[in-house]
Amino acid sequence: MVEVGCGPEEYAREQRHCLVAAPSRCPNCESSGKLEALGYYPRYTTDAQGRAIEILVRRFQCGSCAITVSCLPDFAQPYRILNSATVEAYFRGQCERHDVLRNEELLRRYWRRFVSFSATLPQVLGGGFGRAPPGEEAEALWRRLLAACKTLAGCTCRLVRDFRTTCFGIYRCHQPRLAR
Ligand SMILES: [Zn+2]
Repeated sequence: MVEVGCGPEEYAREQRHCLVAAPSRCPNCESSGKLEALGYYPRYTTDAQGRAIEILVRRFQCGSCAITVSCLPDFAQPYRILNSATVEAYFRGQCERHDVLRNEELLRRYWRRFVSFSATLPQVLGGGFGRAPPGEEAEALWRRLLAACKTLAGCTCRLVRDFRTTCFGIYRCHQPRLAR
């Protein structure tokens, strides 16, 4: 994940994928300065109206261990098409927004997925976001994550970087090879 400081429309229009710098350190073997550009891959996310929009994601390859690293912009959710702002709005109960209304059925499924993963997520986090109260419901976990990170985009960056997870499941990209 990489913070890009703009939304999907601007990222696509301004070709911001070209500006994404290589991470300084390989997330697998921890070598510095070994990540080299390896082109882009296309994927979809959604715009502010909740419509599908294609973006390009920059990839790098480590010259030491050869793993590839994808720099997904922070407005997008790993493995999921809907952008983080839309998911956050729905999870906050802002159900009248156009982007939410347009994707209501999918958002309901995202919430169900979060509820199901909320049984596991606190164990993955350890004490990372404060101690989980006993019997914490998904709703309370969601509020706790949001209180710590302010936005779902920020929360997802932190979860991926520090805990190799998202709000919906374990993050499988660029983990150490032995763990694959
Ligand atoms: Zn490496």
